[in-house]
Amino acid sequence: MGLVTLNIENVECRYDSVSILDGISFEASGGDFVGLIGPNGSGKTTLLRSISRTLKPCVGAVVLDGKDVYSLKIKEIAKKVAVVPQDTVTSTFNFTALEIVLMGRTPHLGWLEKEGEKDHAIAENAMKITNTWHFADKLMTELSGGEKQRVIIARALAQEPKVLLLDEPTTHLDINHQVEILNLIKKLSKQEKLLIIAVFHDLNLAAQYCDYLILLSQGEIESIGNPDVVLTPENVKQVYHTEVLVKRSPITNSLYIIPFSIPKLHSKQDFTVHLICGTGTGTPLMIDLLNHGYQVTAGVLTTLDTDRETATHLKIQVVTDHPFSPASEEAHKENLDLVERAKVVVLTDIPVGWGNIKNIEAAEEALKKGTPLIMIDGVPFEERDYTRGEASKHLNNLKRNGAICVKDASEVLSVIDKLEGKLIAKIKK
Ligand code: ADP
Repeated sequence: MGLVTLNIENVECRYDSVSILDGISFEASGGDFVGLIGPNGSGKTTLLRSISRTLKPCVGAVVLDGKDVYSLKIKEIAKKVAVVPQDTVTSTFNFTALEIVLMGRTPHLGWLEKEGEKDHAIAENAMKITNTWHFADKLMTELSGGEKQRVIIARALAQEPKVLLLDEPTTHLDINHQVEILNLIKKLSKQEKLLIIAVFHDLNLAAQYCDYLILLSQGEIESIGNPDVVLTPENVKQVYHTEVLVKRSPITNSLYIIPFSIPKLHSKQDFTVHLICGTGTGTPLMIDLLNHGYQVTAGVLTTLDTDRETATHLKIQVVTDHPFSPASEEAHKENLDLVERAKVVVLTDIPVGWGNIKNIEAAEEALKKGTPLIMIDGVPFEERDYTRGEASKHLNNLKRNGAICVKDASEVLSVIDKLEGKLIAKIKK
């Protein structure tokens, strides 16, 4: 049999006379993992309800395998579409896990018919897939949040559905259980070819796991497509009214979002921190420092550098140079000017090659002029020295000559706060 197809055709839904969804159209099929995102009240749950035949659209149609779901009996729908509702995790049941999963067989049974051998075999299989079989006889009340959620998913699978609808499946779970559940759901979409439609609160998890995202805003589709298309800073700002940076994780290759706010008034207007950074090592610092009211400058960064991209987004003054060539004298001079104007200079644990070794010299200048230099010293010099020892020599010099060493970026802000405090105390004296 072919893959299940779902066509949402110009759906409008109302509660009483209030229109909640309007003009919703999209298509999906077996094997797709679709994430519904959008702020609270944007209509995500209502859309799931319209697909599961719980809420009839007043306009448009939900078409499953070529048939309008409202032309099918509830039982027929339940054989094709299973729902994992919100908040099942917090309710307590006086049933064993197996009893709960067997309830998933109801649509396949006749009136008052008891589950047979086949139903037990299907329930067992659903529990094995979800790694719940080993506690089949335990009461639901004895299970952890993640275990209960897996049982509820097993119940949905026992329905033998083609479409699985999940409303915030991981909201109440710890990160390890979130990952466990989402890996399971992803596997079901890819191996069993289920069509998954899940509501997500967490945009980063949605970006990591979903093939497609639908961003809802006030009951309408603001954006639809793969995460690269949907999760742009512009779309997120438009819908959530929050400034974000969108970056790509080098580990998962998926997008992730960092919210930030630029204070309208720089409370520490004349306290500038200059960052010597690169390859993303400066990004969290830029956000942290701006959020705490510091002025920030950066350099020298190449036009392709991810920290340069962040700096541009954040409207940070940055010295830029061309990639793949040693820093130009002009850029180096400009960088030295910014170092001179800064109250503190921070050097992150960047890889150092012939292209950016002049940046280390700029850090040396800071120390010579008596400007505090904070050095992030997480990655050993040898591991990031691409100059056959020359960079290490300079970095060791910095250490010897009084650089304040910290282990990672999270420690930098508190050191700067202390330095700023001391400076203010000095001025007051
Ligand atoms: P989301 O899942 O995105 O948070 P919902 O689909 O739950 O959004 O809700 C969309 C809108 O519909 C909200 O304004 C909400 O108050 C309203 N709403 C939800 N359920 C009902 C209901 N049963 N009766 C009336 N209004 C409702």
